[in-house]
Amino acid sequence: MSDCLFCKIIDGQIPSLKVYEDEQVFAFMDIMPLTKGHTLLIPKTHCKDLFEMPEEVARNLYAAAPKVANAIKAAFNPVGMNTVNNNGEAAGQTVFHYHLHLIPRYDETDGLQVKWNSRQAEFPTEVLTAIAGQIKENI
Ligand code: 5GP
Ligand code: ZN
Repeated sequence: MSDCLFCKIIDGQIPSLKVYEDEQVFAFMDIMPLTKGHTLLIPKTHCKDLFEMPEEVARNLYAAAPKVANAIKAAFNPVGMNTVNNNGEAAGQTVFHYHLHLIPRYDETDGLQVKWNSRQAEFPTEVLTAIAGQIKENI
């Protein structure tokens, strides 16, 4: 897409620090890294977000993810990795070309704080069962 920042990075109009590229995907350093080695993996086919991603594009993107993740692991020996994908402005997406964040983790002082506040009490089994049913109906 002509006015898309990441499409411009893929075709070299905007410089980036590329770490991997094949026919289908492109991986490069996030310009504002959260931790050492924070990398973005993107499909070469422009899609805005997960909702608009064709299955084949997803297949190719996720096929490349372990390769890039393991290169980060081999380079910096992190103790873990968060893979994050924000879809939609409300979810924190700021660049509207799908991207998977690969964020290596080192220790509790590595600067990334992810806190999951479970609301399990609001979702007893019967409520969860109804929710599962609604999703199933829509697949
Ligand atoms: P989002 O908030 O959409 O999940 O993530 C967008 C990411 O793209 C951010 O982490 C941001 O640092 C990164 N980013 C934004 N502009 C550029 C750029 O021009 N070059 C690179 N390499 N990364 C960028
Ligand atoms: Zn794009």
